[in-house]
Amino acid sequence: MGEQVSNAAKKNAQKRPKGIKKASAPESRTALVRRARRINRELAEVYPYAHPELDFRNPFELLVATVLSAQTTDLRVNQTTPALFAKYPTPEDLAAAVPEELEEVIRPTGFFRAKARSLIGLSTALRDDFGGEVPGRLADLVTLPGVGRKTANVVLGNAFGVPGVTVDTHFGRLVRRWKWTAEEDPEKVEAEVCALFPKSDWTMLSHRVIFHGRRICHARKPACGACPIAPLCPAYGEGETDPEKAKKLLKYEKGGYPGQRLAPPPDYPGRPAAPLATADPEGDPGAAAGTTGA
Ligand code: SF4
Repeated sequence: MGEQVSNAAKKNAQKRPKGIKKASAPESRTALVRRARRINRELAEVYPYAHPELDFRNPFELLVATVLSAQTTDLRVNQTTPALFAKYPTPEDLAAAVPEELEEVIRPTGFFRAKARSLIGLSTALRDDFGGEVPGRLADLVTLPGVGRKTANVVLGNAFGVPGVTVDTHFGRLVRRWKWTAEEDPEKVEAEVCALFPKSDWTMLSHRVIFHGRRICHARKPACGACPIAPLCPAYGEGETDPEKAKKLLKYEKGGYPGQRLAPPPDYPGRPAAPLATADPEGDPGAAAGTTGA
């Protein structure tokens, strides 16, 4: 087994793209900051259209969609929220929902009983404590039922323009692969990554890293051979290095599949996702599985 591993490592080392250096000495803080910012710049070129992948039209819809996105894909949430917001367009409507009826509407997102409790609870708090408006402060948002720091940062960054780093499963995995941090705890990851970048970069950095995690740097099979930031990545070789095989692993617009949003921004180069009833018409990997971690 040990020999197999070392043979694989040798093979990968031989295929290392030009520019990739094997780490010899520990990276200095200055070199780390430079490399991290270069990765961000490269990702900005690869994903100039990076955006939040939940469909929303106002802060309330984004808050609700983000709560629903726990343990499922953004795609599944986007396929569920049109019916939800048609039936319950405001916090007042959702606060007054009959739990069983709400559960039926959000059932496709999984954990629907707990999520229904959170939605009714947070809508009641919005109605009673915040005048029916979503507050634009982290300290207020985290007092709402079912709303943690991650959800609060998503809402602040994308509905209020307050810079924030969103540490989800993709973000944590990638920044550890890139050795920006060794931390596992999302709050510590957030603090260490924030310290590498100016505040103005935080929100878009989060979108780009999550885009890269969903499309190329997957959890189980990163497509290293098709990765534009391979020369900057200490984890190059963890995944498929053969360019042709790696290309076949690409997802969403990079792999020719629909995206996660039913209503993507106008500059999105891929196709919109299909509504729930007609989902997965062309083998979209995220649509069928429901919980691909995508
Ligand atoms: S080289 Fe591989 S591990 Fe590194 S970012 Fe690219 S896909 Fe991920």
